[in-house]
Amino acid sequence: MYWKALNRKEINQNVEYALQQNASYAKGEVIGTPATYLDQKEFYPDASFLDDAPFLKSLIANPNHIGCHTLDHQSSPIFKGTQAIEKELIEICAEEIFKAPRNEVDGYVATGGTEANLEAMWIYRNYFMREYGAKADQIGVLFSEDTHYSITKGCDLLQLNPLFVTVNPEDRSMNLNCLKANLKDAAKLGIKYFIVVLNVSTTMFGSVDEIDPVVKILDQNQAVFKVHLDAAFGGFIYPFTNPESRHNFEHPRISSISIDAHKMLQTPYGTGLFLIRKGYMHYVANEFAQYVPGLDYTLCGSRSGANAIVIWMLLKNYGSEGWVKKMKELINRTDFVCERLNELGVEYFRNPHLNIVAIKANAIPSELAKKYELVADTYQHMPSWWKIVVMDHVSYEILEAFLNELEAIKTAKANVA
Ligand SMILES: *Cc1c(COP(=O)(O)O)cnc(C)c1O
Repeated sequence: MYWKALNRKEINQNVEYALQQNASYAKGEVIGTPATYLDQKEFYPDASFLDDAPFLKSLIANPNHIGCHTLDHQSSPIFKGTQAIEKELIEICAEEIFKAPRNEVDGYVATGGTEANLEAMWIYRNYFMREYGAKADQIGVLFSEDTHYSITKGCDLLQLNPLFVTVNPEDRSMNLNCLKANLKDAAKLGIKYFIVVLNVSTTMFGSVDEIDPVVKILDQNQAVFKVHLDAAFGGFIYPFTNPESRHNFEHPRISSISIDAHKMLQTPYGTGLFLIRKGYMHYVANEFAQYVPGLDYTLCGSRSGANAIVIWMLLKNYGSEGWVKKMKELINRTDFVCERLNELGVEYFRNPHLNIVAIKANAIPSELAKKYELVADTYQHMPSWWKIVVMDHVSYEILEAFLNELEAIKTAKANVA
């Protein structure tokens, strides 16, 4: 994995060049589209600070990245400059971070992990329908009970059968016996095609679903299936902290991946990424989008090119080496929390390559959890877990303060007993 870091000036020049390659509403070069620059009373384009703020400048230039720009045919030439940046961004994510061979992955900047997950499910549903004559009720979606709720949202929208797989409570791994039982039940219901969603990592625990044991069981059952990786949480940390990771396009059974930049990469909301091997986007081509050059393939339709630019800027600002360093620092801080919890004899779950610590709720008084805004596994009834996510702003100081309070509570309890 390698891409070079650029300095601020170089980043600025690249974005400026891209914006200039776009046709400009401001110069009156575009009269046919219903889009335009942002209202000039509210967003004045001549503000001097914009020269040093390429993201804001792009936001105000308002390029529309509707469609998918990694496909061979032409998208709208009006925004070809900034679309080229999106294309380069998709290449870095697919080829450097997720190890795809050159030019073998399509993708686009989606509104977030939810949209990217829905896009994957939509594509595979249509694929099974078109290639196998499947009916929606013959398609099942397999995922662990720790999976993000966007997957059940997708099942609801696309009218697919959700098939929950329980997890082993000690390590949050998928319960393979439950998977086998699910496949038996599915056969009885006439469910023959499967969309398998595996997590890199789950939002609550930071657990990473193993690929091979799941694929093996599906193969043994002669199941027809496609595997999607939900790396909305882990996509910008796990590949950097675990160089041995097989959760990428080198694994022949992985077809698509979702990533959120607005989590670990700390970009503004609206910055998800959808990646899929070439040959699949056309299953959701909308033939009725005749007025869009290059048609549309996305759930969201119109979307701001500034979102692609800001993800690209972040990646270029750090370079691959800078990003590895930054993510390692988060892991060190998470290790520190786990070491203290070990000393205190508090039970927790943690994947060593991720920055999430899920602590057994019985160890944490709820006032303490509330004071530090820990997140519960459920707010519907008594939580079983409280989690800490060690993000950039979660300093050693605040972690120490929390751990010291936890220790004091434990000591007081021990004295009473
Ligand atoms: C956050 C998250 C999502 C949803 O992402 P949004 O950006 O909120 O749409 C999906 N899956 C996982 C694992 C996540 O952590």
